[in-house]
Amino acid sequence: MTSTRHRPTVAVVDAGAIARNTARLRTAAGDGAHVCAVVKADGYGHGLVTAARAALAGGATWLAVALVEEGEALRAAGVDAPVLVLSEPPPAAAGALLAARLTPTVYRPEFLTALEDAHAAADPDAAPVAVHVKLDTGMTRVGVAPADRDALLARLATSERLDVEGVQTHLARADELDVPTTAEQLARFRAGLDAVRDVGLTPRLVHVANSAATLHHTPAWRAAVAAVPDAAPLVRTGIALYGLDAGPQVTAAAHGLEPALRLVSAVSHVRHVDAGTPVSYGHRWSAPAAGWLATVPIGYADGVPRGLTGRLDVLHRGRRRPVVGTVTMDQVLVWCGDDEPAHGDEVVLLGTQAGPEGEGRIGLEEWAERLDTITYELATGISARVPRVVVGADQADAAAPAAQDPEPSRASGEGR
Ligand SMILES: *Cc1c(COP(=O)(O)O)cnc(C)c1O
Repeated sequence: MTSTRHRPTVAVVDAGAIARNTARLRTAAGDGAHVCAVVKADGYGHGLVTAARAALAGGATWLAVALVEEGEALRAAGVDAPVLVLSEPPPAAAGALLAARLTPTVYRPEFLTALEDAHAAADPDAAPVAVHVKLDTGMTRVGVAPADRDALLARLATSERLDVEGVQTHLARADELDVPTTAEQLARFRAGLDAVRDVGLTPRLVHVANSAATLHHTPAWRAAVAAVPDAAPLVRTGIALYGLDAGPQVTAAAHGLEPALRLVSAVSHVRHVDAGTPVSYGHRWSAPAAGWLATVPIGYADGVPRGLTGRLDVLHRGRRRPVVGTVTMDQVLVWCGDDEPAHGDEVVLLGTQAGPEGEGRIGLEEWAERLDTITYELATGISARVPRVVVGADQADAAAPAAQDPEPSRASGEGR
């Protein structure tokens, strides 16, 4: 990305909101719980390093990523906190993972061997490397299957190079509050924790909860985690850090979580058109009356899905205005009717905007509902072409709650 910005389209990321959301999640997780801030996929589109630093300032003590590459990027930016890699990379990446001081999730014997070999190759006398073993309790994606569990645990218990610091599982339906799946998975996890203890392993961290479970199933997962008396609970929260709904039943607003991203552009061209004038590709819309059209330089290549054609609103002067005609790659058209827009007027696609008649608000949840998808997909879909502008980094440091046990690592503000 070049350093000079010409187009007015930006994603404004509020680091203070991420920090405050982190502090709220830490409270929701309960006494002694660690917050592991999930910052994979460029911090759900908010910026990897921005999200990581803000969450650490808000009291997170761990970070989690999907890829070794993401962990390496955090280290290159000077982030020093423990970083969990949520799934096994290919075995050939074991050396890179260790070199970046990342904490691997493990569940296949082949990967254990690769880790042991890489660890011995780097330094034969090094202290054992911390790993977090993942039990599959019903997500059926990654993790050791119940049939293979005991052999893997026995293998770990005898390894001289691997130290089982953590045990984890992942919930498939935590955002659905009226299904029994979460309780069933927790029962299987409890049995898995018993097996972990039976082979003599002593994990210090036990983790289950994603955002939805942290906010809604706290007593249930805390009871399961308590099966390992000396371990601390940890929660792996992603979507809620960013102030977005985990699903229709798990809303950010109900928990006082603040959306951290505003998607903003400005009017780049103004036209007065006659009634019946057809607009944009395919002429799928025509002006219902004479009136004003504003062109806004943002499109599907920026992450505004073309599927929102005919059902997307924006804010202009604090009012909702419809986007009309087909969403194009780089631009959309906004119908302003009798209200003549001015070149350069701010247009908000996501977030709030004040106007003469009060404040308007559009959330990503609205896009998700209209497209029959989830906030996660749309947040991570805001493309790299949209510069992220960070605000509120100064407030992020003020968001940390009074320190519980481990002192959260601190990071100062950053650019982008
Ligand atoms: C992405 C992910 C999370 C975070 O989930 P949210 O619903 O965003 O809180 C937690 N754990 C694992 C294993 C994940 O892949």
